[in-house]
Amino acid sequence: MTEAPPRVLTIAGSDSGGGAGIQADLRTFFACGVHGCVALTAVTVQNSLGVTGVVEIPADTVAAQVVSVAEDIGVQAAKTGMLASAQIIEAVTPALDRVGIGAGRTPLVVDPVSASMHGNQLLADNALDALRGLLFPRATLVTPNLDEVRLITGIAVKDREDQRVAAEALHALGPEWVLVKGGHMWDDPECLDLLYDGREFIELPGPRYDTEHTHGSGDTLASSISSALARGASVPEAVRFGKDFIVKSVEAAYPLGAGSGPVSPFW
Ligand code: PLP
Repeated sequence: MTEAPPRVLTIAGSDSGGGAGIQADLRTFFACGVHGCVALTAVTVQNSLGVTGVVEIPADTVAAQVVSVAEDIGVQAAKTGMLASAQIIEAVTPALDRVGIGAGRTPLVVDPVSASMHGNQLLADNALDALRGLLFPRATLVTPNLDEVRLITGIAVKDREDQRVAAEALHALGPEWVLVKGGHMWDDPECLDLLYDGREFIELPGPRYDTEHTHGSGDTLASSISSALARGASVPEAVRFGKDFIVKSVEAAYPLGAGSGPVSPFW
């Protein structure tokens, strides 16, 4: 018998194609040497071409999974992915408070997933307010891409200057740290992610790859960051670890089906 590794909880949806969602999270947790637990929010009917159906898990069942796992197994970090609806966010928030996740206690990474790369909606329109008002103030780190930045703040980021303005606007919503991912700044030759804690901007440059096989990249980044936080890393250390992890995972992506293949945390 050996000692248990750190535990990380993902509160997220299933991707039947195995590319994104909890499947990406669990692969990443395994690759990072932590034990992954799941509070499932939704089942998506999905393949490499996109999402054709979504069934939500009842909100009280999502919250019950959080409490069940945290009270018995214990978690050293948690992350949220696809939260599907305002009702789920409203049920999960008191569950997180009850078990001491977020709000300066156990680290909470909020990946504000709103749509898939194919444009399929993964968060109801009326859920944005709940995400902003309930989860952002409790988050250790939020990790929006530029589409999510626009939905949440109304700021359309076109260049690195806008990226800083967006980071300030996001930080004003209450998270300790903000990571504004630059992957969708298509005219920029690099993928520059910007980390901000209300005082200091930390630039994390990385290569840009010309590939359509990036399915699950946001989940893989947030999960690798969460794994490092569970091991006790600081937020800047964890984000640097995650950035290196996602670059290697994009390099190891593979084609699948007729559409977009997944990034792979095994390299
Ligand atoms: N499906 C689920 C269940 C997800 O959680 C996510 C992202 O978090 C996606 C699909 C979208 O992934 P991508 O935008 O990489 O296609």
